[in-house]
Amino acid sequence: MKIRVLSVLFFLLILNTVQAQNTYIYCGNLINGIDDKVKKEMTIIVEKNKIIDVKKGYVEPVSRSAKIIDLRDKTVMPGWMDMHVHLEGEYDQNSYLNRFTLNDADRAFDAVGNAKITLMAGFTTVRELGGSGVNIALRKAINSGDIVGPRVYTAGKSIAITGGHADPTNGYRKDLLTYPPGPSDGVADGADECRKAVRQQVKNGSDLIKITATGGVLSVARDGHRPQFTEEEVRAIVETANDFGIKVAAHAHGDEGMQRAVRGGVASIEHGTMMSEETMELMKKYGTYYVPTITAGKAVADSAKVKGFYPEIVVPKALEIGPKIQNTFAKAYKKGVKIAFGTDAGVFPHGNNALEFVYMTEVGMPAMEAIQSATMGAADLLGVTDVLGSVEKGKLADIIAVQDNPLENIETVLEVKFVMKDGVVYKNE
Ligand SMILES: [Zn+2]
Repeated sequence: MKIRVLSVLFFLLILNTVQAQNTYIYCGNLINGIDDKVKKEMTIIVEKNKIIDVKKGYVEPVSRSAKIIDLRDKTVMPGWMDMHVHLEGEYDQNSYLNRFTLNDADRAFDAVGNAKITLMAGFTTVRELGGSGVNIALRKAINSGDIVGPRVYTAGKSIAITGGHADPTNGYRKDLLTYPPGPSDGVADGADECRKAVRQQVKNGSDLIKITATGGVLSVARDGHRPQFTEEEVRAIVETANDFGIKVAAHAHGDEGMQRAVRGGVASIEHGTMMSEETMELMKKYGTYYVPTITAGKAVADSAKVKGFYPEIVVPKALEIGPKIQNTFAKAYKKGVKIAFGTDAGVFPHGNNALEFVYMTEVGMPAMEAIQSATMGAADLLGVTDVLGSVEKGKLADIIAVQDNPLENIETVLEVKFVMKDGVVYKNE
């Protein structure tokens, strides 16, 4: 009996040594997410899902069983983090009809594919800013290892006012859906309903709250940019969310709604299309992040030119609002507003998220800062700088690589060659 116990222990010990086998990643160039310079010839040492050291030169492994990943001809950096995606679907000509035909299971299967494409494009973490709520089950399935995808921090379903941008019944016949929708459907009017709507999202399993602080482009509603919550309502939402220790992201195109959201205490402004200089100053004062989504702006403006792609009520909004975002981003960046990388993927095909880097650098943001906005900047917005956002000792092993140095050739970000998430290699070309 004793011998059997001992041999089991011995077996476990052996197993443990095998599992603790370290991985040495040789990096020709390393962008660590913090320093402004690219480091040459570095080694990242990974044990299980953690970075246990980053050393100069190509370090010889101590143990013979260690694994070497040779990225000496590539540029290595922290896994990118997209702060604005919608993984449940993708806009196309049928999107508005899909609402009547797709069940949650259909959305879930779509989301599985979208999650995988996103990870393979180098995005190891995303902030999911609202869908039907299937995204919460998606996060669970990814975390449990059942499916392949990025780390998901989700807002579940966006909260809107009656008839607001994220009111799911806009434009529908009264008997087709819950009518009128209430706080549990993510539609709230007045401070009390707003509190209830936040609590419901938290109960459902959301990690953060998303509100639609102004009108939006793609909703079947007349207005695209006017304010949609009072400042009192925003404050009620933010205070309730903060009580749960979570943050609020605000979709906003028009300036007035943006100012109410910033003063109300939201953590980030999404899109920010008509942001005035006054609002930029206000955001600096409050420490509010700007998540630009230039890629989505350009995509909706292009799609609006295709006849029948969007309902007629959406077309003028898309043509007016879409093209403005890149210019606003350029101004906000120059003013010194904090920027966190975000694309609104789902409005355009998933997997093209890295286009945002190209658009950011096109109007004056240095490539290094654009990358930092998708690494340490995004981690700061999420509140996870202790575990993500950089290639440093003690952080989780979310590491990617591209062929060239993006500071010399930004388009290299469009073809990611290597993806490791949580210490597991998902792509190595
Ligand atoms: Zn969005």
